[in-house]
Amino acid sequence: MTVRVYALNCGTLEFERRSFFPESEHGVAMRVPVPAFLIVHPKGKVLFDTGIHADGFRDPIAHFGKALAAYFKFYCGAGEGVVAQLRLLGLDPGDITHVVNSHLHFDHCGCNALFTRAEIFVQGVEMRATRVARDADRRPDRDWDRPLNYRLLEGEHDLFGDGKLVVVPTPGHTVGHQSLRVEAGSGMRLCLTGDACYTQEHLERDLLPSGGAVFNAGEMRHSLGLLRRMRDREGMSLIFGHDAVQLQALRCAPEAFA
Ligand SMILES: [Zn+2]
Ligand SMILES: [Zn+2]
Repeated sequence: MTVRVYALNCGTLEFERRSFFPESEHGVAMRVPVPAFLIVHPKGKVLFDTGIHADGFRDPIAHFGKALAAYFKFYCGAGEGVVAQLRLLGLDPGDITHVVNSHLHFDHCGCNALFTRAEIFVQGVEMRATRVARDADRRPDRDWDRPLNYRLLEGEHDLFGDGKLVVVPTPGHTVGHQSLRVEAGSGMRLCLTGDACYTQEHLERDLLPSGGAVFNAGEMRHSLGLLRRMRDREGMSLIFGHDAVQLQALRCAPEAFA
């Protein structure tokens, strides 16, 4: 059994385009996918991010509060969402052994509560910042603040000690953002960037999103550079956090893309 990687479709978000691309005019909307990824390793089933809480789609104001619910539109089609997508692979949340949260924004840890049997890996600085963060409105307590089996990391972490799945810090978007390097059985080496890089265009243009989505510009630029070196010097494929064009082109669950 080798390492396989699956892209899970966890709905879509619509918002002002200029929050991704600051040069964009006011009032222009864009819609992006919210992905999660399942990595099946001989020693465990690992989920990278958990998408948006089901209540967030049903009643955004109650779940997120008025400000966030006014800024974003939330869409979850039939068969979308982390539970329905895992079901396509014959899996339940209880089958997942490890969850890696890139960070604790609502579209990355919204379904954490379902993964009661998993160890959940978050950078310690990210967890400690959640209540005091400037972007606290993007981190509703209900999404992450549960008696779950959190394991707080301080830096890089090799999940199975074999170099196949390695968590790497990529701070800047948030204080403790992390990405996941994967060596798939197909021979493809890839990095799931999370929100360290929203789209290919951000990487190519060395572009940071608007201020609300940047905790520390210097660190975010440094993380972009790290990702670019992975691609250019190590030949890794980068799978971006919210890139509609890239995700549409990837084979989606129940087929593995790597
Ligand atoms: Zn984010
Ligand atoms: Zn995001």
